Amino acid sequence: MQIQLKCFDRLEAAYPNQTTSQEQWMNSWKDLDNAVLSRTVDWFIKNWAKCPTLAQFKEVTLDEQKRQNKAFLKDLTDSCPKCDSGWIQVDVIKDTFRPCDACRVEQFNRWQVGTYRPS
Ligand SMILES: [Zn+2]
Repeated sequence: MQIQLKCFDRLEAAYPNQTTSQEQWMNSWKDLDNAVLSRTVDWFIKNWAKCPTLAQFKEVTLDEQKRQNKAFLKDLTDSCPKCDSGWIQVDVIKDTFRPCDACRVEQFNRWQVGTYRPS
């Protein structure tokens, strides 16, 4: 069974007679990552007494997506052989670092064009 169908069944079971058309949910879920979808369904079932609207559901999936991206980047950085937790020393005397070009590509690119601001 498709993960989307399973998730919809779980929503229906948790919120009987509250979900709108299955087709609408399926449509709004079709581009979602399976892990994000599944975890968001879990989260609502645990935290919400009422069935969320499609818009409310979408909002939480965006947060969940961000969290997973962050976790993914952290794994990447932790296992990167080129750097020290995402940083490469550029100047030993001044003790300055730059983002790693292997595992922090986005920050590295900004650093290269001079727009990187360490957060
Ligand atoms: Zn790295």
